Amino acid sequence: MKHFFNAFLLTEIIKGMALTLKYFFFVPQVTINYPYEKGPISPRFRGEHALRRYPNGEERCIACKLCEAICPALAITIEAEPREDGSRRTTRYDIDMTKCIYCGLCQEACPVDAIVEGSNFEFATETREELFYNKDKLLENGDRWEAQIARNLSVDAAYR
Ligand code: SF4
Ligand code: SF4
Repeated sequence: MKHFFNAFLLTEIIKGMALTLKYFFFVPQVTINYPYEKGPISPRFRGEHALRRYPNGEERCIACKLCEAICPALAITIEAEPREDGSRRTTRYDIDMTKCIYCGLCQEACPVDAIVEGSNFEFATETREELFYNKDKLLENGDRWEAQIARNLSVDAAYR
């Protein structure tokens, strides 16, 4: 009998519609209108790579090749030679982003915080070749994201 009245009075449908209306009008939205709105990102987020400089413009990287050695995907290729002043710097620093698995080990291995993974995740490309990053591209990323990268590193420093 109960089932008969439920079916006759459309109780289930009314309950369903009430739930829909409740979420439509009274419950805050959990979705965002990406890309116009963006959610928060952890300072530990491992996104696009960047090579950083010191405030005086000098490259941080000392060409120790630890990042190249530790990279499990063999995505990093470095060539280096000493400069006239005796300092050791890279002449080539490539990352094949199509191989990278974003493990963050290169950043962990770097003794001078030169190679880092920043917060940028919006670097999709139309061609595979655009994901073969060279030193210029990585330094350009560093210049562009330095403020955010430095902020992320300082927030996370207490946990390292
Ligand atoms: S994030 Fe991992 S896979 Fe990618 S370049 Fe760094 S060490 Fe290699
Ligand atoms: S990025 Fe860091 S770990 Fe890699 S070669 Fe340069 S100094 Fe060494």
